[in-house]
Amino acid sequence: MTKRQSFSVLFACLLLGPLHPSHAGIASAQPVPVRSATLVAASDSFKVLLLGTGVGPRVDLQQFGASILIEAGGERFLFDCGRGATLRLTQMGISIGSINRLFLTHLHSDHVIQIPDLLLTGWAGARRIIPLEVWGPSGTRHMMDHMQQAFAFDVHVRRDVDEKLPASGIAVVSHDIKQGIVFNQHGVKVTAFLVDHGPVQPAFGYRIDYRGYSVALSGDTRVSENLIRIAQGVDVLIHEGIDPEAVRNRTDHPYLAAIEAIIAHHTTPEQAGEIFNRVRPRLAVFSHAPNTENMISLTRKTYAGPLQGAEDMLTIVIGEKIEVRHFRR
Ligand SMILES: [Zn+2]
Ligand SMILES: [Zn+2]
Repeated sequence: MTKRQSFSVLFACLLLGPLHPSHAGIASAQPVPVRSATLVAASDSFKVLLLGTGVGPRVDLQQFGASILIEAGGERFLFDCGRGATLRLTQMGISIGSINRLFLTHLHSDHVIQIPDLLLTGWAGARRIIPLEVWGPSGTRHMMDHMQQAFAFDVHVRRDVDEKLPASGIAVVSHDIKQGIVFNQHGVKVTAFLVDHGPVQPAFGYRIDYRGYSVALSGDTRVSENLIRIAQGVDVLIHEGIDPEAVRNRTDHPYLAAIEAIIAHHTTPEQAGEIFNRVRPRLAVFSHAPNTENMISLTRKTYAGPLQGAEDMLTIVIGEKIEVRHFRR
């Protein structure tokens, strides 16, 4: 793809119907102790920033790796940290040192590969002075422990020998989570829910509730009844998608024999449209999906409501109105 294509619907400032009531009915996991975190800027705003909307492990210069930032009431929450997340944050004027909460949908490499940069550069290059707290599926703590070991030389030199940077900023607090409420502070509730990413288990989506508004992120999943139930009536639903024919037609795919398995672990545009019809968000958004006209036209076969294509550095402001802002480079 040589040209960025955007498929914004209608509105840069359009009222999209009444609020839906909050959902209920998810069993809470054990309460997770959390520290107070960096307060970014006093604000009641609720924003979603699509940092990277790309698909799979291959390098894509138009759509970076999977990563979404949510800002709620001046608090920042990063969901996945795929390739380029730290670059997109910087491009959007957000210090990576201000990110100290990271939620992982699953441990596929394209969702986690930029964590070392967030961890190390956020500390040494952007003055994070409190620990990075990470929530994710079983295996998250193990991965984070080993990441610290892998970079032990750099940490030791900067912390103990040369710059004497604060030890607290390179500490990590990891949580292996189960479905349920995993964060509930500052008026922001984050609920993890299981999705269906084929054999990649467990894999989570997240729902974020703030001041009566809500966002759900699918993570990687094929059609998930659990997602449809828990995301019911959210203001914004961000869902992944795959274009099966585009994948099948790729002659440069490194593992042709694996293509059908890959397709089977994701959601087609027609299926996504059916999900949007059942969840009824005020705005449906693709991320971790190709930014192509075909994705939109295939989705339109089954869904006629408000829809936004996958586009890096898109900002969605959620309130009485939902405003979609495209990034001007
Ligand atoms: Zn993925
Ligand atoms: Zn995946």
